[in-house]
Order: sequence, then C-alpha cells, then structure tokens
Amino acid sequence: MPALSIVVPCFNEEACLPALHRRLGAAARAAVDSDYEIVLVNDGSRDGSWPIMRGMAADDPHVMAVNLSRNHGHQLALTAGLDLCRGDTVLIIDADLQDPPELLPEMMQVMRAEEADVVYGVRRSRSGETAFKRATAHGFYRLMSRATEVDIPLDTGDFRLMSRRALEALLAMPEQARFIRGMVAWIGFRQVAFVYDRQERFAGETKYPFKKMMRFAFDALTGFSSAPLKLASYVGLALSMGSVILVLYIAYAWTAGRNVPGWTSLMLIVVIIGAVQMFVLALMGEYIGRLYNEAKGRPLYIVQEVAGDGRAEAKLGYIADATAKSDRPGGRGKRPTR
Ligand code: UDP
Ligand code: MG
Repeated sequence: MPALSIVVPCFNEEACLPALHRRLGAAARAAVDSDYEIVLVNDGSRDGSWPIMRGMAADDPHVMAVNLSRNHGHQLALTAGLDLCRGDTVLIIDADLQDPPELLPEMMQVMRAEEADVVYGVRRSRSGETAFKRATAHGFYRLMSRATEVDIPLDTGDFRLMSRRALEALLAMPEQARFIRGMVAWIGFRQVAFVYDRQERFAGETKYPFKKMMRFAFDALTGFSSAPLKLASYVGLALSMGSVILVLYIAYAWTAGRNVPGWTSLMLIVVIIGAVQMFVLALMGEYIGRLYNEAKGRPLYIVQEVAGDGRAEAKLGYIADATAKSDRPGGRGKRPTR
C-alpha cells in the first residue's frame, strides 16, 4: 500500500494533464518520496485526454489511469478513483490546477500535527471565476448551512486530504446522488480546515455549466435536508390565514352594502395559488426522482479500462464484476484485487 494516493477526476482536460502530472509528481515526492500513486480518472472525455493519460500510465509507474465507460459526472468519477486507490492517505484534487498541488506537504504536516482524519481546503479567495459563479457559490453554501442538519463547512470544494479510515467510511455510503464534501462532513472524526487561495484554471474552461451546477446544488440540498418538503405546510398555513382575513373582509363589505369588484383580485389569487402549488409539486418531484434513482440501485459507474497498475483486472471480467453486488455495504462494484 502506498503512503499516498492522489485522485483526480478529469473531463476534457487534455491541456492541463502534462502540467498536472509534473506538479503532482513533484509535490508527492516532496511529501512522501516515491511512495505514492496518482489515480487519473477519465470521465468520458471527448478530447485527447484518455490517450495522454494512458501514455502517462505506461511511462510512469506511479500513475494508474482509469477510463470510465462514459461521462458519469464529477462526483461519480471521483468515487471511482477513490474506490480504486490504495493509499494510506488520499489527496483529492481537480485536474485544472485551481488548487495548488504544492500545498500537499504542508497539508500532510497539518494532518500529522493535529492528528486529523480530514484536512479540507477552504477558499480564502477565488481568482479567475466569474462574479456570477462566486455569488451563486457564496449564496449556496450559506443556504446549505441553514437548511442542513450536518455542519458542512463554508466555501470548501473537494480539495482535501483524507485518512484511510475516513475514506472507507465515505465509500460505505451507497448513494447515487453524491455531494462528497457534505458526505465527508457527515462522517465525523477530526476534521481540520486549511485556508488557501484558489487559482485560476490552468487551461480550458469550467466543466460545470449552469445546468450541471443546478443539479449539483439540488443533489446537495435534497441529500442533506428535508426542509424543502416542509415548505408546503408553511405556505399552506400562511394562505389559510390570508383566506380567513379575506372572508372577513368580504362579509364586512356585503353587510356594508358594497359589492366587491372581482376580476383583478380573483385572477391574482388564482395565479398565486397555482404557482405555489406547482412550485411545491416540483420540489417534491426533485425528491421523488432521486428516490426512484436510488431505488434502482444501479452501479455508480462502469469502468471500461484500467491502464497502469490494475491492467490485468481491467479486462472485460472487471466490467461484469462492476455490476455485481459486492460484500461492501451499498453493493457497489467489486474492487479489482491487485
Ligand atoms: N469533471 C469531471 N466530470 C464532469 C465535470 C467535471 O470529471 O462531468 C472534473 C473536471 O475535469 C475537474 C473537476 O471535475 O477536474 C472540477 O471541474 P471544474 O474545474 O470544471 O469545476 P469548477 O472548478 O469550475 O467548479
Ligand atoms: Mg475548476
């Protein structure tokens, strides 16, 4: 078992890969000498990422390259890498070098000194990101902290160092809709913040367009809070009180011999109630859709090929295994034995 695994999900990151490989290798050597592995997960890239990754695995014995069968999404690609890595300590990092690998030795020092199981990066600043992204991220993390029972630290990403036992706890969680930074917070143990400045993307552009970001946000919210489901009761209560006032007003107007003029107020009420009902229905739909997804119990990801270390197990047999129930809680794909 290597002392350190570095797990990197990659989606269309061909321009970042050479610099990523170089800087990760240097940081790992500074931290643990040559006792490390780099697990690159190709999440169905449509550019030249996979051939580059496979080449790296062939040239550098520290690199394992995992090719997923299609784009499964950032959090699932990350899960695949975490499942396959073998290190005592695991670093999670993005491929775009927004989180500087050079911080690794310092993070490991913090982990040792504080006897922590998790050292998570907290962004002091985020350069090179649009004001819109910064504002939505800011709002999102504050909303989450109000809505959820778990204390999810503000302004963290997945950039973090984890101990083997924290990782095993994370991998024991079977859910499809994964919000990994929240799931790690849920685990407990000793978790320590590590403040850093987030850099600009090394190359390319964000792989999180608005739609993916919204889905991610909903996964987070529905995964950690049932507060939105209670919205209907609050709104219902407010509307009932409003209707009592309205009835009193109408009774008064009638006895005073006045006819209450209709169309505008009627339309307004119909539209408001209709909109509120649709909104609450949609919220419930978000939960039901996820329930349905979880109930199917499909594997989280399918591995097509592994280059580097696990080559022998990367044959078709492993793909079949990946869909079989394993002894691990959650019945995720069986780990190839290496
Ligand atoms: N990513 C992935 N699959 C996806 C989208 C993104 O593996 O479907 C990877 C991407 O290559 C990067 C990380 O997830 O390593 C974070 O993505 P990105 O940097 O684009 O997100 P941002 O930093 O803009 O939030
Ligand atoms: Mg990024």
